Amino acid sequence: MTLTATIPLEEAARRTRGAVVVGAGPAGATAARELARRGVDVMLVDRASFPRWKVCGCCLNGRAAALLNAAGLGDHAAIRRAVPLQSLCLASGGHLARVPLFGGAALSRESLDVALIQAAVEAGAAFLPETRAILLEKDAKSLRCDAPRRVLLQQDQKRAEVSARVVLAADGLGGQFLTRTPIAASVEFGARIGAGTTTTDAPAFYRPGVVYMTCGAGGYTGLVMLEDGRLDVAAAFDASAVRAGGPGPVAVRLLHEAGWPVPDGLADLPWRGTPPLTRHARQVAAERLFVVGDAAGYVEPFTGEGMAWAMASGAAVAPLAARAVERWRPEFITQWARIHRRVVSRRQTVCRAAAAVLRRPRLTRLLVRLLSQAPMLAAPVIGRLNL
Ligand SMILES: Cc1cc2nc3c(=O)[nH]c(=O)nc-3n(C[C@H](O)[C@H](O)[C@H](O)COP(=O)(O)OP(=O)(O)OC[C@H]3O[C@@H](n4cnc5c(N)ncnc54)[C@H](O)[C@@H]3O)c2cc1C
Repeated sequence: MTLTATIPLEEAARRTRGAVVVGAGPAGATAARELARRGVDVMLVDRASFPRWKVCGCCLNGRAAALLNAAGLGDHAAIRRAVPLQSLCLASGGHLARVPLFGGAALSRESLDVALIQAAVEAGAAFLPETRAILLEKDAKSLRCDAPRRVLLQQDQKRAEVSARVVLAADGLGGQFLTRTPIAASVEFGARIGAGTTTTDAPAFYRPGVVYMTCGAGGYTGLVMLEDGRLDVAAAFDASAVRAGGPGPVAVRLLHEAGWPVPDGLADLPWRGTPPLTRHARQVAAERLFVVGDAAGYVEPFTGEGMAWAMASGAAVAPLAARAVERWRPEFITQWARIHRRVVSRRQTVCRAAAAVLRRPRLTRLLVRLLSQAPMLAAPVIGRLNL
């Protein structure tokens, strides 16, 4: 069922809002819900219509699952259908390791994102899908720091300008909401790109509850069965590896290298790509503006933590943003930078280390060989990622 707008565009722009949250992925929807729970007049805007598919490995780690429970969503019908994850099958250079997983689950982004948006709306947030938001620069009249921020909302041919005491940028990797501002994230040189597709025609080899990862020259591909029987395929590739034939043939080659069956027509399925993955935010806040989720920086998805970081940052920004709605103080900028570092950036170290190893095929092979003989060696790392 498609989620509909809770207010028309004209009404959305009629008065100054407490907060406008741009992007209704896990970061934005969580932040909107937490702000609404604090009594803030909040509007959640997304250019997509929901449910929407998105390039993602769809694996919620233990921390993400715990955050959903803490938000009272553990009993949500869609989230209860998530497939518990029991193990990770890792293949590289002819070696295969099977590592036990605990606490995580696989869930399609269609189901997860709708559940999070519904929770935000139930808490009192207004929701405006199919609406592109553009941050407007402050004009001479509004240079005072007590003046609200202005956001341009666009729906097909219609446009409206909304003022908000606080704006949250949760527009993800591909969003361009901050592009023209000095705080837009910068892309790391040589960053890999993401790609993904799904198939309803999964070979019986792929068992629910198992994450399959094959790593080799040019990148890695992950496969997991979703709650609705589709096989999700998500990958991170060197841009040079996909330049000639697109992501499909690279994924097929990596599956052949692992000796795993290739889903019918995989190379020709409709693949979707992402912009370069690894990026760093120069700043995660500015006057009356907080940046959350992937928009505040991202690392390659190998360790599957992006949604946990997004939800954690969405929840963590809410108390500060609610205070900023009451009264803006310049020190909120450094406060959010500090909180963001604690909640997200510091936790990205393991993911960065994994990404560095994956750039070295011989080291990856060695690691997988080691794990094939002693899978429990991965336990401390997985435990740390789940915290
Ligand atoms: C290949 C790949 C595999 C991954 N695998 C996993 C995994 O297994 N587990 C995991 O936890 N994470 C994984 N991730 C990461 C995860 O997908 C992201 O970290 C997560 O979606 C970030 O959430 P977000 O809310 O910040 O952004 P998003 O989920 O990207 O949401 C941003 C939203 O903003 C909207 N938007 C953008 N611009 C505008 C605008 N101007 N106006 C209005 N709306 C706008 C978009 O439509 C979108 O809905 C993977 C990522 C990739 C690329």
